[in-house]
Amino acid sequence: MSLIVQKFGGSSVKDTDRIMNVARIVMETSQKGNDVVVVVSAQGDTTDDLIAKAAEITDNPSRREMDALMSTGEQISASLLSIAIKSLGGKAISLTGWQAGFVTDSNHRNSRIRRIDKERLENELDKKNIVIVTGFQGINRYDDITTLGRGGSDTSAVAIAAALKAEKCQIYTDVDGVYTADPRIVKAARKLPEISYDEMLELATLGAQVLHNRSVEMAKRYNIRMEVLSSLENKPGTIVKEVAKMEKMLIKGVAKDDKISRITLVGVPDTPGIAFKIFSLLASVKINVDIILQATGSNGAKDIIFTLKEGDESIAMQILSDIKESAGFTEAVLDTNISKVSIVGAGIQSNAGVASKMFEALADANINIHMISSSEIKISVFIDKDLSTKAVSAVHSAFEDDLKS
Ligand code: ADP
Ligand code: ASP
Ligand code: MG
Repeated sequence: MSLIVQKFGGSSVKDTDRIMNVARIVMETSQKGNDVVVVVSAQGDTTDDLIAKAAEITDNPSRREMDALMSTGEQISASLLSIAIKSLGGKAISLTGWQAGFVTDSNHRNSRIRRIDKERLENELDKKNIVIVTGFQGINRYDDITTLGRGGSDTSAVAIAAALKAEKCQIYTDVDGVYTADPRIVKAARKLPEISYDEMLELATLGAQVLHNRSVEMAKRYNIRMEVLSSLENKPGTIVKEVAKMEKMLIKGVAKDDKISRITLVGVPDTPGIAFKIFSLLASVKINVDIILQATGSNGAKDIIFTLKEGDESIAMQILSDIKESAGFTEAVLDTNISKVSIVGAGIQSNAGVASKMFEALADANINIHMISSSEIKISVFIDKDLSTKAVSAVHSAFEDDLKS
């Protein structure tokens, strides 16, 4: 008998009708003779609402308590879905992250899965239950509840698929697959029948919210076939796997990330060890910096510019203000009006024309580029935040022909 893992996101379980719809999809999969493990997200905007409730009390809530709070959203969905499946005559049981054996590290709000103790999952499957697991959560070695970072239910699903050696991991969402750009922004975006792990990982990391980037990383490591499909329309979605069908497509997609900020350190002394001092301190409080640029200034000083995730600014600025004197720079300037727009495709590196075509599209749309970074399979530009939607459309339409298979 084969095992299928099915994950349903927040919009797919947002109300009673949608829960019943999911119950029917899951029952159908089970009635075809498959073992089924279901992973659910919190209903609709529940996670945002819970975060907002804590924000009404303080700007700086305890990370441990935030995990205890946020994990409740998924518990509501899991128990409701189990009730729904039973009401249709199915056999089901809901499990929280810890009941399902998810053990993570202690990095609250962004924990990584260390292992899954799978006995309970296997026992429940042996009893012919449809097993419904809360996404996005686990416990650490102190038995405290942890969460895996926003969008982390995708990663919970792939982790179960890897642990139980599932045939595939289906990610049901509110769009019917992975598109060449967010279909809510770019009407001309095209659905991709297939995409490689590497390209999907870049797209997800660069802001295409449709999959949590760590879920793709894990699917690649354990060679799990992922499918992205709609919970509302019964049609083929997008398959994420090792090598996508060879086609002439040079570019796979365009993505944007509005949730970033930029910090400029002005007048950093041009002596060895300063960059090390600054970035090791930021790393010690788990602040990930994205791109780092260094520009030569005058009088033996230089400027260092770097980008970081939205939400990390206040702690980063605090650290920088603490070390300003000992590190010897003049000031740290925060800019939150910045976005990153990227194109992704395995063929980018070997094609010299791609970068200039992207820059031309932005120039024609009168969008100023502040910084550029590129790698083997992506080119990213940093621009003003209020222009990011326009930029995605402009770049997508410049590559219209390349984005057709
Ligand atoms: P879920 O709640 O099911 O996890 P998400 O909101 O996390 O759903 O992800 C689905 C959303 O991702 C879509 O509604 C879409 O707006 C957005 N998205 C961004 N980029 C893409 C893309 N390239 N292809 C498909 N969807 C995308
Ligand atoms: N409910 C969590 C979130 O909104 C996890 C998820 O949906 O994947 O981020
Ligand atoms: Mg999601």
